Amino acid sequence: MNLARIARPEILGLAPYAHASWEPALTRLHANENPWRDADDASLAGLNRYPEPEPAALEARLAALYGVAADELLAARGSDEAIDLLARVFLCPGKDAALICPPTFGMYAVAARIQGASVIEVPLLRERGFALDEAALGRALEGPVKLIFICTPNNPTGHETDPGSIERLAARVAGRALVVVDEAYAEFAGTGSLATRITRLPNLVVLRTLSKAYALAGARVGALIADASVVELARRVRPPYSIATPSTEAALAALAPAPLARARERIELIRSERTKLAAALAQLPLVRRVWPSAANFLLVESDDAAALLARARAAGFLLRDFSQGALTPGAVRISVGTPEDNARLAGSLA
Ligand code: PMP
Repeated sequence: MNLARIARPEILGLAPYAHASWEPALTRLHANENPWRDADDASLAGLNRYPEPEPAALEARLAALYGVAADELLAARGSDEAIDLLARVFLCPGKDAALICPPTFGMYAVAARIQGASVIEVPLLRERGFALDEAALGRALEGPVKLIFICTPNNPTGHETDPGSIERLAARVAGRALVVVDEAYAEFAGTGSLATRITRLPNLVVLRTLSKAYALAGARVGALIADASVVELARRVRPPYSIATPSTEAALAALAPAPLARARERIELIRSERTKLAAALAQLPLVRRVWPSAANFLLVESDDAAALLARARAAGFLLRDFSQGALTPGAVRISVGTPEDNARLAGSLA
């Protein structure tokens, strides 16, 4: 299916920037670069040169990692940039809307608002483990919604959304909206990805990132996985040379067999530490509730969130305060740290 017809007309009519051609066998006197590398330049490709305009090797490697075709994947500067590209391609300012299900990751609404689009909120059902409110979603979809963001496992709650309800939602809005499934924390959940369903549900978009499970938050490498027609549109909007040479090299290195095996070990360690930390926190008088989590963090509720945050800070830990959120009263989000950090944090809150 060609999803282009739901994109902004300006993007459909856009002539993308014509970047310098990529012909590595020839000497580059066409891009106004510096001909000499600095002596301290430790990169493989040379930082004096622009990176490959479309990072083909990186995209092929990420496509293999996530089990999709190369033309179904676009590399971006983190999934943050992928969210921004989707807003820019699909949301007409002053006309279209993004639908979000709070409490959830904040960038969906920010990207939509920067684009001048509106944001429709359909809150999750806290009393049902933060499940989607399918009835309210149905009503909201009568509005001008083009992008529906579902984060699973969700930040900040840590819960997973039933893949069946996501697929039903995508089928329901087929041809008029995209369902964007943010799987930033999927590796910690151990359940499958929806990435391979895009052939059957072409209005499904999946976001992945190397920031969490692959320990590369500083490199800023994420992926947008979608029908090739959506990827082609996002490619028009992504700035040229957008993935910096050190980031591509770091990502390719991190996805070699030995570091990949280490990443899998770290994921297992984080999962077991998550269980231990949840049990330790649940014992504390300061903690009223620990929500079950499929991610690398825990959402913890307290009768005195300010005291919990203050004690953690006094012990040298920064936590994330969600206590003022309508559906997260008294809640604090705690990332799973090293075993030493987790034990020390639980001790300092006791
Ligand atoms: N999605 C979710 C749900 C997140 O929590 C985050 C980071 N906190 C991101 C996307 C952005 O990740 P990145 O840009 O590093 O890929």
